[in-house]
Amino acid sequence: MDWHAFLRDWSQEATARGFQSEVFAEVAGYPLVASTKGDLSKPCVYLSSGMHGDEPSGPQALLALLKEGFFDDRFHWLICPVLNPTGLAAGTRENARGIDQNRDYCVCETEEVCSHITWLDQQKTPGLFLSLHEDWESSGFYFYEINTSGQDSAHQRILEAAAPFFPPEPSKMIDDHEVTAPGWIYHSEQPDIPEGWPEAIFLAKRGCPLSLTFETPSSMSLEDRMGCHQAVVRESVSRCQL
Ligand SMILES: [Zn+2]
Repeated sequence: MDWHAFLRDWSQEATARGFQSEVFAEVAGYPLVASTKGDLSKPCVYLSSGMHGDEPSGPQALLALLKEGFFDDRFHWLICPVLNPTGLAAGTRENARGIDQNRDYCVCETEEVCSHITWLDQQKTPGLFLSLHEDWESSGFYFYEINTSGQDSAHQRILEAAAPFFPPEPSKMIDDHEVTAPGWIYHSEQPDIPEGWPEAIFLAKRGCPLSLTFETPSSMSLEDRMGCHQAVVRESVSRCQL
């Protein structure tokens, strides 16, 4: 996968679809791109992907949604499609310095995360955050939910949207988390590791009331991982009352 070409394709398509894109940092020759669209008076939905370099289906799914015109005029959209370009180029979870960026949102020792935090702090607080990931150890789909919104969880509908691609992950323990129901981890807004915040905890601390982190199984086909991500994004956005 040529990630320079991907980012060119993303920026061109985003412009054609009415987004404004900006480069909030450059790392090893790769731009870190954020694309925004829509009136600030509208509810805000933020999506990110490409945090872990061995999880390419998230960026690809967001590009497919962009190309199909999913990001319409309902919301104020914020999208960061490729947060770890050096990891994606190398096919590694961590960035080129060997750091897991998704544990760096408190200490902030990577340029990628520091500049991303600076950019996020300039944006409207999202009412919904969707984060696209993969898991190399799972065989099914699962997701984390942080929900301080007072809204009921839409977990059943999200799992139904994923079902044509993957069953709910059957494990009762996933990454040291006991599942709330198969495929669903209802997580508090507190971090598991005090100073190792993932992006979702950072967003919760900044006041984002609903955060969903989707995990598709890396051992399955790219086509199905992309299709599953697209389906659960569509379902989450359509069900969310912002
Ligand atoms: Zn990940």
